[in-house]
Amino acid sequence: MKIIVHRGAEEIGGNCIELVSGESRILLDYGTPLPRINPVTHKSENITLEQAEHKIEGLYGPGKARLDGLVISHTHQDHYGMLYGRPLNPALPVYMSEIMEEIIRITGKMGPDHKDFTAKVEYFRKEVPFTVGVFTLTPYLMDHSSSESFAFLIEAEGKKIIYTGDYRDHGHRTHAFTKFLNTKMGGIDLILTEGTQAGVETGDNEKKVMLDIEKLIKPDSGALYVMCSGQNVDLLASLGGIAARKGRFLAIDGYVALILETLKTLALKQGVKLQLPGLESEYLKVLDTPTMRNLQKYYPEAAEKISRKLVSWVWVNENPDKLIIPVRTYAQHWCRAKITNFKNAILVYSMWEGYKEDLEYQKTLEYFKARGMDAHSAHVSGHAYFSTIRKLMENKKPRHIIPIHTEHPEIFQAAFGDRVHVLQNGGEFTLD
Ligand SMILES: [Zn+2]
Repeated sequence: MKIIVHRGAEEIGGNCIELVSGESRILLDYGTPLPRINPVTHKSENITLEQAEHKIEGLYGPGKARLDGLVISHTHQDHYGMLYGRPLNPALPVYMSEIMEEIIRITGKMGPDHKDFTAKVEYFRKEVPFTVGVFTLTPYLMDHSSSESFAFLIEAEGKKIIYTGDYRDHGHRTHAFTKFLNTKMGGIDLILTEGTQAGVETGDNEKKVMLDIEKLIKPDSGALYVMCSGQNVDLLASLGGIAARKGRFLAIDGYVALILETLKTLALKQGVKLQLPGLESEYLKVLDTPTMRNLQKYYPEAAEKISRKLVSWVWVNENPDKLIIPVRTYAQHWCRAKITNFKNAILVYSMWEGYKEDLEYQKTLEYFKARGMDAHSAHVSGHAYFSTIRKLMENKKPRHIIPIHTEHPEIFQAAFGDRVHVLQNGGEFTLD
């Protein structure tokens, strides 16, 4: 079996990995690269979808060799974003969960470019094996900062490979990682693991960071603004808990409300009741940001329900001490137009691995800091500390390890020795 890491071998994000067994070929993830710093101008630069395209046989049309499928691990753009580029081969099945498809479509339509994608989507379900070409894949839910994230056990030619996707064991879903360790998979030949945070041995867990944030709220505090992704539903659930305990309201925008409602509805369809803030939560309010216009346009039915929780800007400015407001990359635009009362406001932000190079995020952060807010950097990484990666390797004892999605392959070599194979983008490894 051959493993080709087209992208993600030398950097965080933009994963695209090909597995080849005889005539059968599959791709794992097809993400957009994160913005890079231009070495000459030292400015952040986005890489266009055209620039990021890979010329892989069968990906954009019937090629000389058949491509059996593309498997997406989770709903972060550095893993699925290329779906928004040139339409893929219409005959190529793209595998994801039902929740993932919905979240990807919502994020595209509600984003600044109102985009959608066309692809032949096939659903997988957690822990239910499915076949693509000669490969059998079993998806396992992992702890990560996206709505749903999967690792895969991939079997072919009598060999077993684990592709971890993105994972951690210090968030809300540590039980998922524990379950993954406790699942007997037999002898593992190769683990393709992410290593975003490989440079950090260990750190705080989500619970501890949330307690720290809660302590920031004093009796005379104004609004608490927390910069976070609308898809980081675990963090939003924690903020909802703080709001309920502190007698405050969690004031979200229409996009976040739609994500939360969609997740709860689809999970319930599968018999799972998710403990997330929702329209029935007394502590939940919705802000009338420009997102509401998109919601009315693309999801009128949901908009109707969500708008019942809308509050006026007059009320927001009169009651900042009652609010916890999650804000996202473009928040400075509506805050500038609508928020007049920043008295004793608190800002919690994160210098996440990818955000720090995002120009719009920087601008919003600077806007908030210029309002004289009490600013605190707090961060719960979505990615495994090295102690977690070590735990995975000690548990699964793979014969070979290929680190991806990392800037620190040397840490893997130091820890795991000859078993580690460091590839460059486009590099191949043959699994005998
Ligand atoms: Zn991710």
